[in-house]
Amino acid sequence: MRYKRVLVKLSGGAFAGKSEGSFDKDAVDQLADEIIALSSSGVEVAIMVGGGNIFRGRLAEQWNIERVEADNIGMMATVINSLILRGALSARGADETRVMTAIPMASITEPYIRLRAIKHLEKGYTVIFAAGTGQPFVTTDYPAVQRAIEIRAEVILAAKQGTDGVYSADPKTDPTATRYTTISFDEVLSLGLNVMDQSAFMLARDHDLPIHVFNANEPGAMQRACEGESVGTYVSSASSSAYDSAPR
Ligand code: UDP
Repeated sequence: MRYKRVLVKLSGGAFAGKSEGSFDKDAVDQLADEIIALSSSGVEVAIMVGGGNIFRGRLAEQWNIERVEADNIGMMATVINSLILRGALSARGADETRVMTAIPMASITEPYIRLRAIKHLEKGYTVIFAAGTGQPFVTTDYPAVQRAIEIRAEVILAAKQGTDGVYSADPKTDPTATRYTTISFDEVLSLGLNVMDQSAFMLARDHDLPIHVFNANEPGAMQRACEGESVGTYVSSASSSAYDSAPR
C-alpha cells in the first residue's frame, strides 16, 4: 500500500448518492464497504464528514438565520452523517469505529483529543471526525486538512459528489473542460480551480500534504488510490500538471 494512514474527506453529498433526498441507503452502504475494505487492507483510516446534504452555513441569508447559528446547524448535520456512517459501518461488520466531535456530546460521541485519535488509529479503529473545528465561518474542507496534519496522515482522499477530479473548467457548462491527473497546489490556487476551499489548499500546501480528489460513488476508487493507481486528480506541492487523455 502506498499509504499507511489516510484522512478521507466525505462530502455530505456522498451520503445522498444520486438520490434527490439527503440520504441514499445504497450509497451509504457502498461508502461503508469501501472504508471497511481500506481498513482491512491495513490502512489506518480517519474520516472528516461534511453536512451539505442536510444544511450549510451559507444558507443563512436565504433562511434569515444568523450566520453563526446556521453554521451550528451545519455542524450538527455533520454529526448526523457521522452517526449514520458509524451505524452502517458497524452493521456491515467493521471492527471498531469511533466518532469524535469538536463540540462535546458526551453521551453519543467522544470529544476530539488528538493523541487519543492517534491511539485509536494505531489500534486499527476507524475514526470519524464530526462537527469540523467546532467553530463557525469555515466548511469541513479546512478542518479536514487541519486534522490530517494533526494526526500525521500522509494524504487526504477527497471523495467528491458529482465530479471525479479537478477540471480545467466546469465540465457541466464547458465542453472543453479537461480533468487533470496531477496538478500542483500553486496551480490550483492561481487558476482559481475550486474543488475545495482555497484556505484548505493553502494549509495543505504549507504542510506538504497531498490531496487526492476522486468521485465518492466510483466503486473501488479509494482503494485504488491507496494502491498507487492514478485515480481522479492528485494535487501536491511537487506535481506538474498533466491532463487525462482518455475521452470523457
Ligand atoms: N461548519 C462549521 N465549522 C466547521 C465545519 C463545518 O461551521 O468547522 C458548518 C458550515 O456551515 C458548513 C456545514 O457545517 O457549511 C457543513 O459542512 P460542509 O459545507 O463542509 O459540508 P460538505 O460540503 O462537505 O457536504
